[in-house]
Amino acid sequence: MTRPTMLITGASSGIGAALAVLAAEAGWNIGINYRSDKQGAENVAEKVRNAGGEAVLLQADVADPHQVERLFSDCIAALGPITALINNAGITAPGMRVEEMSVERLQTIFQINTLGSIYCAQSAVRHMAKRYGGAGGAIVNVSSVAAKLGSPGEYADYAASKAAIDALTLGLALENAEEGIRVNAVRPGITDTPIHARGGAPGRAERLKDRIPMKRAGQPEEIAEAILWLASPKASYATGTFIDVTGGR
Ligand code: NAP
Repeated sequence: MTRPTMLITGASSGIGAALAVLAAEAGWNIGINYRSDKQGAENVAEKVRNAGGEAVLLQADVADPHQVERLFSDCIAALGPITALINNAGITAPGMRVEEMSVERLQTIFQINTLGSIYCAQSAVRHMAKRYGGAGGAIVNVSSVAAKLGSPGEYADYAASKAAIDALTLGLALENAEEGIRVNAVRPGITDTPIHARGGAPGRAERLKDRIPMKRAGQPEEIAEAILWLASPKASYATGTFIDVTGGR
């Protein structure tokens, strides 16, 4: 049987990288999108191939709609039709109050976390929907528990960018329920990945562990398992739904 293709945005690191390996082990070929960490993406590609999957490296900034179009056409040219899109690429920014945030910061957060996911969803729907001759598929958006908690004093802009992803998940799911496309989201809690250091808060996952009922940060693989299930045919009746993977909060 031919292996289906999963396109993962932001697969050079953290949750996306863990998902690429788990999905390859489960029988998927992987489109590995990254923006700047080519070495990280190459390491992930090697692990995917060791797990028996095909891998293609796809450099693109999801905040740029033209690059997103190229991302999809390059992925399809290399691996065939895309069965699952994982909207995972995302960033945080240094902790501060909302009124202190610069316009540039706000625009960047929303361009990557929110608009980037919408651009990718547009391309995925045009490719997968029955009305355009597509074979259907699944979209899984990586939101955050921040969408429910608001992240006061830390990054309420990030929380808002993820709350928008939750609304998008619902709208896209209902729009495409008869188009053969399931759309769901995972809301991770604090997970031990490089995102915290990159956003100016190194050690955040360790520092905040006492806030979490399980008293530990999640591992990227623990988030990836939920994403993989939602993307797979095992979740065939799930659409417009959310899985919180948070250690309890
Ligand atoms: P990470 O380790 O920092 O990985 C982020 C990935 O996104 C990297 O592969 C990065 O690629 C990519 N990326 C960033 N901006 C991009 C852009 N403009 N275009 C394309 N790719 C881009 O972070 P992570 O923790 O795994 O985060 C993955 C997702 O989980 C994010 O959406 C994040 O908001 C969400 N999340 C994380 C946590 C947590 O505690 N870790 C909690 C809740 C939600 P390059 O490095 O190649 O640029």
